Order: sequence, then C-alpha cells, then structure tokens
Amino acid sequence: MTDLVYRLAQERHLATALPGPNSEKLTARRRAAVAAGVGSAVPVYVADADGGVIVDVDGNSLIDLGSGIAVTSVGASNAAVAAAVGEQAEHFIHTCFMITPYEGYVRVAEELAALTPGDHEKRSALFNSGSEAVENAVKVARLATGRNAVVAFDHAYHGRTNLTMALTAKSMPYKTNMGPFAPEIYRMPMSYPYRDAGVTGEQAAQRAITRIEAQIGAASTAALIIEPIQGEGGFIVPAPGFLPTLVEWAKANGVVFIADEVQSGFARTGAWFASEHEGIVPDIVTMAKGIAGGMPLAAITGRAELLDAVHPGGLGGTYGGNPVACAAALAAIDFMREQDLPARARRIETAIRARLEPLAKEVNTIGDVRGRGAMIALELVKAGTDEPDAAAAKAIAAQALSEGVVILTCGTYGNIIRLLPPLVIGDDLLSEGLGVLEAAVRTGAGSAT
Ligand SMILES: *Cc1c(COP(=O)(O)O)cnc(C)c1O
Repeated sequence: MTDLVYRLAQERHLATALPGPNSEKLTARRRAAVAAGVGSAVPVYVADADGGVIVDVDGNSLIDLGSGIAVTSVGASNAAVAAAVGEQAEHFIHTCFMITPYEGYVRVAEELAALTPGDHEKRSALFNSGSEAVENAVKVARLATGRNAVVAFDHAYHGRTNLTMALTAKSMPYKTNMGPFAPEIYRMPMSYPYRDAGVTGEQAAQRAITRIEAQIGAASTAALIIEPIQGEGGFIVPAPGFLPTLVEWAKANGVVFIADEVQSGFARTGAWFASEHEGIVPDIVTMAKGIAGGMPLAAITGRAELLDAVHPGGLGGTYGGNPVACAAALAAIDFMREQDLPARARRIETAIRARLEPLAKEVNTIGDVRGRGAMIALELVKAGTDEPDAAAAKAIAAQALSEGVVILTCGTYGNIIRLLPPLVIGDDLLSEGLGVLEAAVRTGAGSAT
C-alpha cells in the first residue's frame, strides 16, 4: 500500500449553505427538463471529484462517503482510469463486440476468470448495468437447467428492469404500480441476525430450503439468487453458515447459485468478492458498480458449462463490453491490485468500527453496526427499542450533508445509514467525515429521548 496522490485538495470546505445558489438554479432547470421519477439523494450539482471529495458548482468541497453507490472505489477521476479511457477513445469508441470484436473485452473476461471465486473453467459475458447482468444470469440459468423458477430473498435488491423489479423485494419506490412483474419468481426468508436473534445461519437456510421444496420443488428451481451482503436492503450480513448451506443444497439439486456481487464486489468488503468471506463458490457471479472506475460496465462470470450452454446470439447487446468501458475496467483492476484495495477496505472497516461501535454503546438509537470492509451500516431504531426509525436516518444524513458530508441511507424500512467511502479516501478525511456523522447521531439521539 503506497501513499496516494490526489489532484484535488482532500478537504471539507463550505463556501455556501447547501445547496448553494448555482445548485438551486440547476435544480430549477432540472425540474423543467428531467423526469420527476429520477431522484437525487443530494441536491448538489457536481463540478469535480477526486479521491474522497466531491466539489460542487458553488465551490463547496464535500467529503464523499457514498462513492456514487460503491462505484468510484478507485476514485471518481482516477488518473490511470482517465488515461486508459482517453487512450482508447482516441482509437475507437465502439465497434460492437458482436460485429467486429477487440482484445479489451477478452482481457476483461480473462481478469474476471482469475479474480472471481473458484478455480473451475469459467466464461464471461459483458453488459452495461447491474440489472442487465442479473437478467442475463437468470437467462443462462433457465436455459442451462431447462427449469423456470427463480428464488430471491427478503430485502433483496437486484435492479429496476422488469425481471429485476420482480426479484427486488422493496415496493416503494422501486416497484409500486409498475407491474405486472415477471412470473416464476419466489421470495424466501433471509437470514437477518439483528432481527432474527437466536436463528443460526444453518437454521435460516433450512427454513428457506424447506419452503422452496414445499412451494416450488427443487426440480422446478432453475436458480437461487442472493447478494452475499445485501446492499439496498440494509447491508444485511447473513449469519455464518447461511450461504454455504444454500450453496450445498443448490449443488445437490442441480440449482444454479447466483451471487449478485454488483454492490459487494471489487474489493469493497475487504476481499475481491464478498462470497470469499464464507468460502463459497457461486455458479455465476454478477458484477457491475465498482468494476470500471465509474464507466458503465457489468459482467456475468460463471461455470463454462452453464454459459456455453447458450446458443450464439442468445447473449449480448449493442454496447455490452464497450471498448472504452473495458479499458477503464482493466485500469481500475490493475490499480486495485497494485494498491491492494482489499487491504485498504479492511483498514477503513477498522477505522469506522473504532468510531461507531463505542457510539452504539453510548446511544440507544443505534440497534446494530454491521457490514464488512468499506461497506458498513448503522441500523437506526426508536430509542431503546428495535423499531425502525427511518426519520432518524433521514435527519442524520441531512445534517451530515449540511456540514459537508455525503452519506447515503438504505434499507427495506429506510432506517439504515450506509457508509461506502471510496477505497482511496485518506485516513484524516475519513475520520473527519465520521466525526460529523457521530455528532449528527448524537444530536438525533438527544432529541429522541
Ligand atoms: C445496484 C445493484 C443492482 C442494479 O445495478 P444497476 O447498474 O443499477 O442496474 C443489482 N444488484 C445489486 C446488488 C445492486 O446493488
């Protein structure tokens, strides 16, 4: 791990109240031009971003604890990624891999085969978004097994296209009034240690398996899809044994086990993939978000016999594995390896836990501190209870923003504060951002009692 060099000053600096006047003007223009259904968590317009900071159009420099939802792990303007993008764009920006292919796509597939869990023979296909990767993983599983049913879990988030809305658990805002949804999707109970006290991982898995066998039948089940650490659903880390028991059952029953690592992949959790923490080897891994330093790229990597079961033309898309996005991914992956970003993510976890665990003991509004690596959450509850407190999470994020720290919320009940800092954030800046969060939690706890 070497010291990183940044282009922008790594500091929190407020030049105006937030949002500033230039952001307000853009918000007014946006209202007249951009669909209302496309939301923004933070009404501050970006002029520049680097390392752990986002600089807005009013000259405010904010500490970024969100990474554009776990995307800019290597930094939002990583110099190596920017150079690779420029270099590729000067030669060709697109040819379509399905028409005239190029080496970058093949190299990304080679990297994914080496990086994803398991040393079996693998194949990959590239797409543009996490949702598209999930859709294609399901297509492959159905075709390869000749079965239809797909099992997803409570609190799951797999995207917002039609099939992935069906897989996603939360109705508002992702699905409400946007059906009908794709058929043959079945939802099973998750292992959620904080809200499932005393149930071991094996028991929670058995609970799901019993229902699958009774309600669907193993022989009708094509795939089981799960985030090894749930993202939008609330950074839920299942109890130890839950994932391995499901993998074992899937294997014994010819069911394809799909790990959706779109959010948890690429060094985020302190390993290249979150599946590694439990030693599981998925049949197919879906990836996107952190894969390419912010360029839109997604992938599925899986057992050769599954992916090669699909006839030529059965997978693809005009832009899938775009050459500029592939160049960005190769540069981002090199950077993650050279700088040992999994180790950085573990160091970030240590720093975050050192601040938030004592805080959770001090106030009675934090029910749980959980997660792995640079993917850590606080579950906010009404004082002294386990009742979700979405208003508190919202108020804390709003206060942090007013003080120049971008913090995201999530969770089925909206009561989770989630920390997803860029893995290149400096120690001092992270510590300053956590200080602001801590103060906001204390203010909230003070008014809650
Ligand atoms: C974000 C996300 C998706 C969807 O990815 P998009 O690129 O937004 O389509 C799917 N699965 C998980 C786990 C995600 O976090």
